[in-house]
Amino acid sequence: MSDSNKTPIWASEQRRMTARLLPEAIEALGRWQLRWPDYEIDATLRRSEAQMREVLYELLERLTENYPFFHPDYAGQMLKPPHAVATMAYFLAQQINPNNHALDGGPATAKMEYEVVADLARMFGYDEHLGHLTSSGTIANLEALWVARQLHPDSQVAFSREAHYTHSRMCEVLGIDSVAVEVDARGRMDLDDLRDKLRAGRIGTVVMTTGTTAIGAVDPVDEALGLRREFDFRIHVDAAYGGFFRLLADDDRVLESRDASAFRAIAESDSIVVDPHKHGLQPYGCGSVIFRDPAVGRFYRHDSPYTYFTSKDLHLGEISLECSRAGAAAAALWATLRCFPLSAEAGLGAVLRQTRAAACEWARLLRGDDRWRLVVDPSLDIVTFYPATPECTTSSISAVVEDIFERTMNDEEDPVYLAKFQVKRPLASGDAELIWDAAGLTALRSVLMKPEHLAGVASLHARVMRARGVTNDE
Ligand SMILES: *Cc1c(COP(=O)(O)O)cnc(C)c1O
Repeated sequence: MSDSNKTPIWASEQRRMTARLLPEAIEALGRWQLRWPDYEIDATLRRSEAQMREVLYELLERLTENYPFFHPDYAGQMLKPPHAVATMAYFLAQQINPNNHALDGGPATAKMEYEVVADLARMFGYDEHLGHLTSSGTIANLEALWVARQLHPDSQVAFSREAHYTHSRMCEVLGIDSVAVEVDARGRMDLDDLRDKLRAGRIGTVVMTTGTTAIGAVDPVDEALGLRREFDFRIHVDAAYGGFFRLLADDDRVLESRDASAFRAIAESDSIVVDPHKHGLQPYGCGSVIFRDPAVGRFYRHDSPYTYFTSKDLHLGEISLECSRAGAAAAALWATLRCFPLSAEAGLGAVLRQTRAAACEWARLLRGDDRWRLVVDPSLDIVTFYPATPECTTSSISAVVEDIFERTMNDEEDPVYLAKFQVKRPLASGDAELIWDAAGLTALRSVLMKPEHLAGVASLHARVMRARGVTNDE
């Protein structure tokens, strides 16, 4: 299946490939549709080709008001388009528009959903599982926290200060009391602080993030397992961003060994969230939640007078909080995993190996240059850094960062797109010279989530250096 990675393919050729394959597949789908008699489109729905064309071109014009998320020169936020096979699969399934809420609404795509969720559960090492796709990581986390609350109604949920901001919001939605745990200088949950908070005896669930959104820090799930033997609590792993890096964790050569053991320990957690729409090459609308104990399915029990008729099997809507969900999302992920299996060497593992290598390479270039500082060594593929200034104050650094950010993005000839990040202590505490004359420090942040970033990293570095050089002259 990976015959195509020997000969180079340019992005423009890949686009032409899609432009050939998609019409061919639409024709083939039409042959199935023609098994039913052709019918006249109602007058209320009829629009001329010319009108639709005009609207589509107007849309295309409006879409140019985007940053080039597809391009390796875009190295800012967690944004990139899905793989072409995902886009085509989504588009084709959407012509039928199955609803994966019920087997009645999406018989074919519900089966695909069971298959891909089983693949994800296997990747993390769950022997048994209950899980499904969701419309996002936020909803998936909401669901995991809801189950946690059903099991421990009067307990608190703990998560680190670097956890995704939606955890505290979702705790509010669920009426759960939450506790913020401190982090160490690498942004990982501080287990001494967690232990102190567990001693108070009210924590029922600990959310551990394997790959924080800001810097990709990996909470020590393996060490938390030890604490779980001492204090009884659930472990929910928020792997929305980092989950697929589990593929690289079976040896200690690609990830740092403590991060690799944290990923391996996910097998012992109680629930997991992973977003295929982040590192799984999917379009938005594809998160997932997986529970280790299938018996939590009992919490979802509800009566639906309209939906479940064609099968006695459990319908996906009977094990999820949401009702309607795009069957097309399951089709897209299914097709993607056929082309990119969840394996360490080929498929998705090979993709992530490149993104990880890109981050390591940029970190190496920055470390080797006295004019730059890393906020932390990258754990996954997110690099955070700032320029050293003569004053060493956080305010002077933040000002230079703002300037580099604007300059790189607005360079007419050769733009580079980075993101910014508000650093809070104890991050960056390894920099002894740093004078915190302002509460925060604005750093540059680059999510190198495209495998092409590896080839492009030297050039990204050179261009950021150039923007910085201009700043120094002033
Ligand atoms: C992105 C992210 C979320 C939220 O997921 P959405 O799909 O954006 O709703 C939650 N946790 C982490 C760690 C994330 O990176």
